[in-house]
Amino acid sequence: MNDQPYDVVVVGGGNAALCAALSARERGASVLVLERAPEDKRGGNSAFTGGGFRIVHHGADDIRKIVPDLTDEEIARTDFGQYTAEDYLDDLGRITQYYVDPDLAETIVRNSTDTVHWMRERGVKFMPNYGRQAYNVNGRFKFFGGVVIYANGGGRGLIDLLYKAADKHGITVRCRTQARHLVCGSNGVDGVRVVGNGVEDVIRARAVVLASGGFEANREMRTRYLGPGWDMAKVRGTRYNTGDGIQMALDIGAQSYGQWSGCHSVAWERYAPDFGDVEHPHAGYRHSYPFGIMVNADGRRFVDEGADFRNYTYARYGRVVLQQPGSFAWQIFDQQAKPLLRDEYKLRGATKVTANTLEELADRMQDVHGRNFLETVRQFNAAVRRDVPFDPNVRDGRCTVGLEVNKSNWANPIEVAPFEAYSVGCGITFTFGGLKIDTRTHVLDMEDAAIPGLYAAGELVGGLYYFNYPGSTGLMAGSVFGRIAGREAAAHAAR
Ligand SMILES: Cc1cc2nc3c(=O)[nH]c(=O)nc-3n(C[C@H](O)[C@H](O)[C@H](O)COP(=O)(O)OP(=O)(O)OC[C@H]3O[C@@H](n4cnc5c(N)ncnc54)[C@H](O)[C@@H]3O)c2cc1C
Repeated sequence: MNDQPYDVVVVGGGNAALCAALSARERGASVLVLERAPEDKRGGNSAFTGGGFRIVHHGADDIRKIVPDLTDEEIARTDFGQYTAEDYLDDLGRITQYYVDPDLAETIVRNSTDTVHWMRERGVKFMPNYGRQAYNVNGRFKFFGGVVIYANGGGRGLIDLLYKAADKHGITVRCRTQARHLVCGSNGVDGVRVVGNGVEDVIRARAVVLASGGFEANREMRTRYLGPGWDMAKVRGTRYNTGDGIQMALDIGAQSYGQWSGCHSVAWERYAPDFGDVEHPHAGYRHSYPFGIMVNADGRRFVDEGADFRNYTYARYGRVVLQQPGSFAWQIFDQQAKPLLRDEYKLRGATKVTANTLEELADRMQDVHGRNFLETVRQFNAAVRRDVPFDPNVRDGRCTVGLEVNKSNWANPIEVAPFEAYSVGCGITFTFGGLKIDTRTHVLDMEDAAIPGLYAAGELVGGLYYFNYPGSTGLMAGSVFGRIAGREAAAHAAR
């Protein structure tokens, strides 16, 4: 038992946790961060990310304030567009079928740009996301899908800089320490029971911030809440997010909130390892499907690959793949699409077949019904509106007509050899269900009353995403609520 209480204990060691820790510290609180992972694996899912942040901006001038070393030449050859608060709110509403908690959505949107500036002042560097969020058409980059900036060095760069800032500001970090239970006293939550190196301890605190992620790495919880078959999904990120923070809060009467049967999941390398590899976090990505077709074991298309920019579809297509016979699919591309394939398609470890004819390709995709596949491609090619020009930077409306499952944009016939096919399964990113918080990040009980001394931020917050997720909102939401949680927890501790 440690008798000297910290003002604020933060459970978790990812982006949301570190933003909470920095924010509490700058308000004078003594802060302890508890990270379950060993030091070389610290940083949670945040370390696996591409580092994309979805922010409100009004074009080049706003981006230059965040990326001051952007050159005139880069600005001249880039159309950053703009992404207003209304666009952001519309996307959060539209993508979640309008189930998103409006107060939480508004809090993210209104604080997004300011929070990125706050992170910049604490040492995080941002860059424009050329390549992943903008295609070069006729010498000019045009950003699509609302995401312009990413943290320099991706998720690993972000986490390294946040830990550096934590160190500089005198925040104590204890790795290999798993929080197991919240401790409550007469003033609410006043400590955490932990296990580190096999030894139990109670750490006393005046306020606790939970930022320990969702339950995506817990097979049993996945199957219990997401449903049968989810035990087979591959985890794209960290193995340490097993729902502990959520469970600890539920145990003391916190309210569950959001879509517990929902998660972010993507088409992912079929034979990927069970958990992500932080040294190669993007190796399993198969996100270029808008420029090809996907077929299942029956040789049939089953989804509109071009329904929208991949930022707005990728997070729900993992579930669709999981639901196919055998829980796998193949993505098919011809030489016209090949230049648009993301780098991950070229990495070792991709389950890939190539062939000079479609018949040969059908033979090589061993688990696929060959005759049906050839018929699918024939029908698809015949249905493409070739009169509509192809443009990867806009929803180009180059669609198919008359198919049972039409493709709405970027429909190019599969006709120029050699052909390539990549096999995908389902990779789970994070879960949508979690705790109910208010806009000041108090964790709420079943009567919507704040549990004194308890705050939450990041992936374990429920009510933000339902059915789908607008890409690069996760880090932004974690930063916004982490910063608020740190401030509120420090204020509570001071009282
Ligand atoms: C491959 C991949 C790419 C992604 N790309 C992006 C992107 O570009 N942009 C974006 O916005 N989002 C992206 N995401 C989603 C993003 O990772 C999450 O939304 C975000 O990182 C969540 O941050 P967090 O701090 O809540 O959780 P995490 O970063 O996962 O942190 C949770 C922390 O809690 C710790 N922990 C767990 N249990 C305990 C316990 N009992 N005791 C102590 N510590 C514990 C974990 O070790 C970890 O450090 C991506 C996710 C993945 C997997």
